[in-house]
Amino acid sequence: AKAEGRGCFRFFEQGTDARVRAMAQLESELRQAVSDEAVVPHFQPLIDLGTGHLVGVEMLARWPHPTRGMVSPAEFIPLAEDGGLIGPMTVSLLRQGCRAAGSWPAHVTLASNLSPMQLRDANLPATIANVLAETGFPAARLELEVTESALVGDLVLARRLLEEIRALGVRLALDDFGTGYSSLRHLQLLPFDRLKIDQSFVGAMVADKESAKIVSAVVGLGHSLGLSTVAEGVETEEVAALLRGLGCDVGQGWLFGRPVPAHRIDALVAVPGEK
Ligand code: C2E
Ligand code: CA
Ligand code: CA
Ligand code: CA
Repeated sequence: AKAEGRGCFRFFEQGTDARVRAMAQLESELRQAVSDEAVVPHFQPLIDLGTGHLVGVEMLARWPHPTRGMVSPAEFIPLAEDGGLIGPMTVSLLRQGCRAAGSWPAHVTLASNLSPMQLRDANLPATIANVLAETGFPAARLELEVTESALVGDLVLARRLLEEIRALGVRLALDDFGTGYSSLRHLQLLPFDRLKIDQSFVGAMVADKESAKIVSAVVGLGHSLGLSTVAEGVETEEVAALLRGLGCDVGQGWLFGRPVPAHRIDALVAVPGEK
């Protein structure tokens, strides 16, 4: 209809309309799924590389869609961000995660991801405090992961929010370290407890000496700043051995376990003789 006199754009306009409609449809399904708690956390183990014990779990959002199958967070997180759904979705996931983790042994921490957009939301600390109060989950066992893209823009606001969250007793991790911007300044200014080394370096450690050197330097940097270091994307025993040799604290990856639904993580976190 809008194509009159713009003939050569008609095809693209129609294509765009169809895409926009499909996105709007998916977004409204996502909105419903969030309110039904049908966007769920899956859980992946974090392993102490020194002892081999499970010390924490990261929750990763999953959307089992009735017709599309399991939709990846890489697809629906951006959709949630565009549609103003990321706040409610995070709260829903945090609630579900804290409920599940409440029955785990006390030394097992729960890590969750924040979207960069959320570090522009002045209500975020209060929202997190509410979920903790409501679920009774101890703040000290919750860890929130943010990427450096969260810190571009209003660094003053991001810093204030992170400090308020830290003051609740919640711990903070800098995620995907090494892939963002001006990392060293962020480490200096912001109250992080942990550094998560991006899987692109970790995965390449065996084949590529430069990657191994970068991981080694990041572990050293983290430790000298008093931060615990976590290597993401540990897929082989060979990589785990290299990381152990470097003194990296914690490993996460397929070698130790893929993300699994709530009913399957309980067995993994349960320590014999403890509960
Ligand atoms: P991330 O926070 O860096 O999470 C790690 C990703 O690596 C996850 O992908 C995980 O399944 C995958 N992974 C774990 N171990 C291995 C391994 O050994 N090898 C390889 N190749 N991959 C591994 P996933 O679950 O698809 O999540 C992708 C990203 O989506 C996450 O990256 C995170 O940025 C975002 N995301 C996931 N859940 C949430 C959420 O609840 N909120 C927000 N804001 N973002 C989320
Ligand atoms: Ca993460
Ligand atoms: Ca990461
Ligand atoms: Ca990532």
